[in-house]
Amino acid sequence: MTRDEPDIQPYEVEVVGVRPLTPSIVRIEVQGAAPEPLGVPDEGCVLHVPLAGGGRDTDGRWYTVRACNGSRHTFDIVTHEGGIGASWARRATVGDRIGISGRQSWFKRPADARWQVLIGDIAGLPAISRIAEEAPAGVATTAVVEVPTAADRLPIERAATTWVHNPDPAAGSRLEELARGIDLPVGSGYVYVAGEAAATRGVRKYLRHELGMAAGTYGVVGYWRVDAERWRRRYESSVEVYEKAWEHAEQAGRDEEESADIYEADLAKAGLL
Ligand SMILES: Cc1cc2nc3c(=O)[nH]c(=O)nc-3n(C[C@H](O)[C@H](O)[C@H](O)COP(=O)(O)OP(=O)(O)OC[C@H]3O[C@@H](n4cnc5c(N)ncnc54)[C@H](O)[C@@H]3O)c2cc1C
Repeated sequence: MTRDEPDIQPYEVEVVGVRPLTPSIVRIEVQGAAPEPLGVPDEGCVLHVPLAGGGRDTDGRWYTVRACNGSRHTFDIVTHEGGIGASWARRATVGDRIGISGRQSWFKRPADARWQVLIGDIAGLPAISRIAEEAPAGVATTAVVEVPTAADRLPIERAATTWVHNPDPAAGSRLEELARGIDLPVGSGYVYVAGEAAATRGVRKYLRHELGMAAGTYGVVGYWRVDAERWRRRYESSVEVYEKAWEHAEQAGRDEEESADIYEADLAKAGLL
């Protein structure tokens, strides 16, 4: 997500509902003017939440728009240990005011797809749920989702779902192993992957370099990072290297996937992946 800087001026919204959905997810509903919906089921927004000591998070955190009804937006937020976003979700109350900026989507299922396979962890569950619910009738959905506990399973409508429990995904997400265990259907389809960054990189490599899937038949998005604080410090101290790598990747890659290969190779060479 380092490639998608949020808009500068956030919209102002007010929290109108807070409800724990599972031991690890709080549903937050907000009301107010927000960026225009993109109408793509994995659309995400950057939320600028109140800080514990006063003021607001200016960097912002990405969250999927789980539902959108006029000026009312729903977000399902994972209450993992630490983190500005997760800590706020644990203490959020009706009347809190937050900012919303940047609206972006990554899901690009081909129009002729007859199946979709959705792989993710609990942070990807809101997007996976929406993608399954909003799929056209002719698209069969299979989902494989890693959640901390059985109580975190939130039924996914219209999807044949396999749940896998992993109480501590920061100690090692199983997404790559899970992807390797899936027999992809034949014919035109799409694979979407959303979860921890290193784990999703592993899945992308598998899909592209081992299965030989063509660009445009899958989409892989890193949603969060193990030890994000350390990564942010490293990013800030080497921002030019990241930017140069991205510029090189955009120029040299013939499509998004080739660009991603080049970007990752450059960062790996610089010891920054
Ligand atoms: C497009 C997009 C959509 C997203 N949608 C959602 C969504 O709908 N719901 C949601 O909850 N998240 C979602 N995420 C992920 C969310 O943005 C990250 O989890 C973010 O790091 C949370 O910020 P934070 O302030 O809580 O933690 P940070 O300050 O980023 O990190 C603090 C610590 O918490 C750890 N951490 C961060 N996220 C997780 C996690 N999910 N599980 C375990 N440990 C974690 C980090 O490794 C770090 O050590 C989405 C991300 C993207 C890019």
